[in-house]
Parts: sequence; C-alpha cells; structure tokens
Amino acid sequence: MANNTGSETPNTNHFDVLIVGGGMVGSAIACRLGQVGMKVAVFDRFSPQAFDAHQQPDLRVSALSPTSIDLLQKVNAWKNIEAMRYAPYQRMAVWEKLYHPMTGAEIPTNLNRTEFDAEELGEPLLGVIVENRITQLALHQRIAELDTVELIVPAEVSEIDVAQGVKVTLADGRVFSGELLVGADGANSLVKQWSGIETDTKPYDQHALVVTVKYTGRQEDITWQGFTSTGPEAFLPLPDIDGEHYGSLVWYNTPENIDALSLLNDEPFRKKLQRSFPDELPEVTEVLERGSFPLIRRHAETYYGNRVVLAGDAAHTINPLAGQGVNLGFQDVLTLTSKIIDARDRCDDFWSESVLESYQQVRRPQNGMMMRIMDIFYHTFSNDIAPIKLARNLGLTVAGRFAFGQKLVMKYAMGLVHVWPENLPAVPALSEILASSPLENVKAQFSKLPDMPSPKSLWQQLKGGPSDRE
Ligand SMILES: Cc1cc2nc3c(=O)[nH]c(=O)nc-3n(C[C@H](O)[C@H](O)[C@H](O)COP(=O)(O)OP(=O)(O)OC[C@H]3O[C@@H](n4cnc5c(N)ncnc54)[C@H](O)[C@@H]3O)c2cc1C
Repeated sequence: MANNTGSETPNTNHFDVLIVGGGMVGSAIACRLGQVGMKVAVFDRFSPQAFDAHQQPDLRVSALSPTSIDLLQKVNAWKNIEAMRYAPYQRMAVWEKLYHPMTGAEIPTNLNRTEFDAEELGEPLLGVIVENRITQLALHQRIAELDTVELIVPAEVSEIDVAQGVKVTLADGRVFSGELLVGADGANSLVKQWSGIETDTKPYDQHALVVTVKYTGRQEDITWQGFTSTGPEAFLPLPDIDGEHYGSLVWYNTPENIDALSLLNDEPFRKKLQRSFPDELPEVTEVLERGSFPLIRRHAETYYGNRVVLAGDAAHTINPLAGQGVNLGFQDVLTLTSKIIDARDRCDDFWSESVLESYQQVRRPQNGMMMRIMDIFYHTFSNDIAPIKLARNLGLTVAGRFAFGQKLVMKYAMGLVHVWPENLPAVPALSEILASSPLENVKAQFSKLPDMPSPKSLWQQLKGGPSDRE
C-alpha cells in the first residue's frame, strides 16, 4: 500500500490529494482535508479580486443554507466571511402570479403564498446571501493559515495522467504528483472530459438575467420568488454598503426576451423591471450591473474514475431557480471528505474505488432528487396549460395552508433541509410522472405526501439526524 500521508515521500511536489479548481467547492475540500493533516495542492487559473468594504456588490451571489454555513464554520472560514460581508435572511417566500380567468386582474399573492419564517422554526436565520467571490476569498484566507495546503495560482492544468498514481502537468511545465485527483473545476470540467466521464446534459428553454440593484426603504430580511408563466422572478437581499441598500434580482425568461431585456439602457430597463416584478419589489433607484446565463442541467454519469473524483458543478449543475447549486456542492464536500478521512484513519487507500463509490452512493441520488424536483417546478410553473395551472395552484395553495408534507417538499427544494426525508416517497423523473396522465400524476406527487405533526419538531428532527452529516 502506498504511503497514506505522503510524509515519507522525498518529492516536495508530491501530495495526498490534488484539486483542480479553487472555487468555493474545491477550496472547501482543501480546507477540510488540510485541517486533518492531509497534504493538498489546489490549482486555479485566477485569484479572486481582493476585498474592499466600499466595493459595490458582485453579480454572482449565492444563498447559502444553514448546513452550508455549518460546513464553513467547521473548516474555520466562516469567521472570514463575517469579517467581510453577508446578508442574513429571516424569511423566504414563494408564490405564483395568478390572473383572474374572466377579468385578467392579478389575484392577491397571499392566496397562494408559501412563507417560511426563521422565528416560527426556532432558528436565528434561514440562510445568508454571500457574493461567490467573498466565500472563495474566505476559504483562500483559511488555506493560507494551513501549512498542509498549497494554493497554486495562476495555474492552467494542461495534462493529467493517472497511469501510476496521479500526475498533473501545468501549462508552464511544472509537474505535481498525488494519490487522488479531485475535479472541482466547474461546469465545463476538463478533469471530467480527460477522465472520459460522460455527462447527461439538458438545456432548459429559459435564460436567467441576474441584476444588481440599489433600492430604497427599509433593509429587506426576506428572499422571495414569484412564479410567472414565462419563468420565476426572484429577489435576494444583499448587505448594506456605506449605508445604502442593495439587492440581487434574477429574471428568468425565454432566451429571446432575455436578449431583448439585455439590450435596454439602464433607465428603461429599471422601469420595466419595476413594472414587471411583483409588488413586493422595493423601489429600485439604480441598476448597477446585469449578466445573463443559459440554464443547463448537467449530471455526470459517474462521479469517479480511476484515481479521479468529481465534486460541485463539475459533477452536476441544476436549474438555479431554488438557488441550490453550491449548497449541493458543499454537501458533496462534507460527504467526500468524510469518506476520505475515514479511509485514511483506517489506513485504507483513500483513493480506492470502494471509497469513491461510497461517496457516489450518497451524493448522486441526492443531487438527482433535487434535479427532478427542479424539473417539476420548471415544467409545471413555466407554462400556461390550463390543467397544469389548476394543479399547481391547488398544490401551492394547499401547501401554504394545510399539508406540512408539501411544505416539506418546498423546504427541501429551497435548501432548508438537505436530505430527502426517508418517510417521504422518492420523486420519480418528470418523464415518468407525465408518461400516463399528467394532471393526475402531478397532483398525486404533491397530495399523497403525509401530513406532519408540527413544522418545528420536524425541523429539529431533520436538522439533527441526517445520515451524511458529521
Ligand atoms: C444565475 C445563477 C444563480 C445562482 N444562484 C445560486 C444560489 O443562490 N445558491 C447556490 O447555492 N448556487 C447558485 N448558483 C450556482 C453556483 O454559482 C455554483 O453551483 C457554484 O459556483 C459552483 O461552485 P464550484 O466551486 O463547483 O465551481 P466554480 O465556481 O465554477 O469554480 C471552478 C473553479 O475552477 C477553476 N478552473 C476551471 N478549470 C480550470 C483549469 N483547467 N485549471 C485551473 N483552474 C480551473 C475556475 O477558475 C474556478 O475558480 C447559481 C448559478 C447561476 C448560473
């Protein structure tokens, strides 16, 4: 068996684990493994721009769930985010924009609104919104404190070889060796391609336009999403900067409409935004930045190959409508690192197929479940077909008022619980649901879920007992 710690290896460029991609996921893996004494090298093309408290917020932000915050605390990087900036949110709301079939008037959203409130759940907060760069910087600052981890930036990986152990060659000719290669190199992962791992890819007929705005009024403590027949419209509060309020908006629509919106100048765009978005949108005073993205679901056929394992967007990208991308990635981090550390502690080969398979066995079904739920949201909300509209109205209204089982599905979809509860039936692929009678089956999925005793006790139970959480 090869040396598990790498400490007796004379080559200074030899590591236990090599990680391609120092984004949020790759850096979190490095911190966790480095923390327990494993020797890790992380390669990235770029360093994130340094933090300055007066900088306007970045376009790319993520809603991090309480479980993701736990992970960042565990690797000792949360303190660095606290020292920079983040926006906590206490409430989260989802509803559908409905119009009266006869008059065309908009129906008040409170009739089909589902809202979660941290106070009701006995929690201090439901999550935080953090700029992706700030999370990455916080993890890089933590890496700098760890003697065991080396961050190699800028580094362009040009070749990998897994014939005997792992060998990574950089474009500048430097060569590094290790026992295991982690591909955390994002949605267009080269590690995945070079390893010959196939991807199941499905583009959605929607693009997302992300917009950073300034707004007036009180600082918001809620993140919300209003579903329309062309796609959701979402608001995420950002931290105040120099006494001013900022928000991140996501406008989902057809690629053609997103292109047309992108061409508008700031002021006409601001007016259109204010008119089109739900009334809950505070008064937007300035549009600071805009960027659009195609929405593509990707799932690697397998999460590992010989001495190679994938995590985060390299393994899966999902429709961002529930903002779960990096939260799923952080779940990968927790499971993968605990499997690697357990194997190392048993003096087993942490790069062996059985260890990597045990990671895949936990994470692939969970990520697949979230993708299927996002597909159901996408297909049942983003259209005007009358029976489906009726079914979803029933679904959301009932979810908001009576059946906690349905609320639980929403909670899972919004990242408030991170493991699909064992007492709920698995959600099949949308294609299976729609195979026979769409309306009956969609309704069945949402209505057969059992009523639960109380949101609070379930929340505690679910928070306390997930199987893949340390
Ligand atoms: C519109 C939109 C909104 C979103 N909102 C949310 C949200 O609210 N909440 C949420 O959880 N998620 C959200 N996501 C998803 C989230 O942004 C991603 O899941 C997350 O960034 C993935 O992190 P990662 O570290 O896996 O990959 P990445 O962030 O893509 O990082 C990959 C890193 O690898 C490096 N790299 C790539 N190739 C190489 C190479 N060959 N050599 C060296 N380095 C390399 C890159 O420079 C990069 O730093 C959203 C996504 C979109 C598109």
